[in-house]
Amino acid sequence: MSRDQLVRPAYSPRAVADLARPQHLLIGDRWTEGASSRTIAVENPAREERVAEIAGASAHDLDMAVHAARHALETSWGRLHGRERARIMLRFADLLDRDADLIGEIMSIDNGTPLASSTPVVRLLGAELFRYYAGWATKISGEAFTPAIGSRTHLDFMVSTLREPIGVVGAIVPWNAPAGMIALKLAPALAVGCTVVLKTAELAPLTGRFFAELLLEAGAPPGTFNLLHGFGDEVGAAMATHPGIDKITFTGSTAVGRSIAQGAAASNLKRVTLELGGKSPVVIFPDADLSEAIPAAAMACFFVSGQACMAGTRLFVHREVHDEVVAGVAAFAKTMTLGDGLAPDTVLGPVISARQKARILEYIRIGVEEDGATVALGGEDTPSPGHFVRPTIFTDARADMRIAQEEIFGPVLTVIPFTDEAALVRDVNSTVYGLSGSVWTRDIQRGLRMARKIDSGQVAINYHAAMSPETPFGGNRQSGWGREFGKEGLEPYLKTKAISVNLGPRT
Ligand code: ADP
Repeated sequence: MSRDQLVRPAYSPRAVADLARPQHLLIGDRWTEGASSRTIAVENPAREERVAEIAGASAHDLDMAVHAARHALETSWGRLHGRERARIMLRFADLLDRDADLIGEIMSIDNGTPLASSTPVVRLLGAELFRYYAGWATKISGEAFTPAIGSRTHLDFMVSTLREPIGVVGAIVPWNAPAGMIALKLAPALAVGCTVVLKTAELAPLTGRFFAELLLEAGAPPGTFNLLHGFGDEVGAAMATHPGIDKITFTGSTAVGRSIAQGAAASNLKRVTLELGGKSPVVIFPDADLSEAIPAAAMACFFVSGQACMAGTRLFVHREVHDEVVAGVAAFAKTMTLGDGLAPDTVLGPVISARQKARILEYIRIGVEEDGATVALGGEDTPSPGHFVRPTIFTDARADMRIAQEEIFGPVLTVIPFTDEAALVRDVNSTVYGLSGSVWTRDIQRGLRMARKIDSGQVAINYHAAMSPETPFGGNRQSGWGREFGKEGLEPYLKTKAISVNLGPRT
């Protein structure tokens, strides 16, 4: 593939104008240039061209942002009635929808995601999620009850529980779906009255400013949302140990999640929610509707070039339909047009960076040379410019191979044949991860049986990764701590206070 063969549409005039604007930090009501000595060079991964330079936040910037968030917690956002918070969040959702095309284009330039996916991320993971959580802002309540203590004394008691915002939230987001990830951290935190200091990912920081600007435009008091840019090992690590942050919510790799948990434990024991890696299974039984299962299996793995935590990267196929499924998935993958995110027919964009591409190619080498699996599709390098990797399918694989155990975060599918259901369950649960998964069968009992046996945060039957605002999402084992989305997604941002009232002598 040469530069000439790829369609690379010009950036829209609005995007050009937006890219020319400074990417400052927002601290309280102050837009300020980061004071770190380290600068982030933002690159469009489809073109390998620099689109922005951003000064990262210094330790002092972080202190100021935490201070602003604390102030807003104590004096403005944290004191608003849920009704007011809901009103502002709904207004914000409308503003996100208003600007979704521009935000989607900037996200595409920032991390390579095709427009066909990036704009829906802004609308569905962004605006709709805000609307959903705005609904909860007026429905946070505790309970009241008579405790048993009253029966052991001559006194009568009543206990009521208050659900209070946990405080200042530090949010650290990844680069693979930045607009969606920022919304996912912000919406539940704001709904319950927390204030937020958010650090964008250094590999894709450009959508953060929209959230900061639009929240102010929607009427959120300054300090409700504070935007930082910066490197993970500098600003991210400092957030994990910061004594003024009450909770960290993080999405990213398992290795970084572990270091955040360690930082939190070693400092003020702040609460931590982690949404980490995965090696999710797609299981196809012989009675499945293959016309549905085959394209879904290809999409489950190759969507956003495999850079999704819930990607279905291990395909377990019953031997009876193995060859048909492999041929079908390979044929479908070949139809997925690789290209620039802004080109209208692009289905697969680039991977995020040269480093990520090198890592994926190294795993492909491992699959061949160390694991001894067979490359059924792809496997070769793809010429630059642009960090492109073609969909790659390994067959003749076993569940214990490295390519079936380790998260690659690229478009690499490992196909493992099975016959016996008990062995299948063992193999499916044999990784350190437990995030997502899907089962394809027309036998509902078998589907439900498998869904119960797969040790992961979510399992879909005859679908993969069914995400919606209402549906809890998160990982078991080393895929994370806690759940996001849905009513459960509010819990990490709340703390409970029990107030016991002595009602006097029982009569
Ligand atoms: P990837 O390796 O795929 O970029 P990471 O998990 O490293 O994924 O990055 C996700 C987010 O975590 C980014 O915002 C990044 O800056 C941040 N991060 C990276 N290292 C650390 C760290 N040591 N402490 C806190 N945050 C970090």
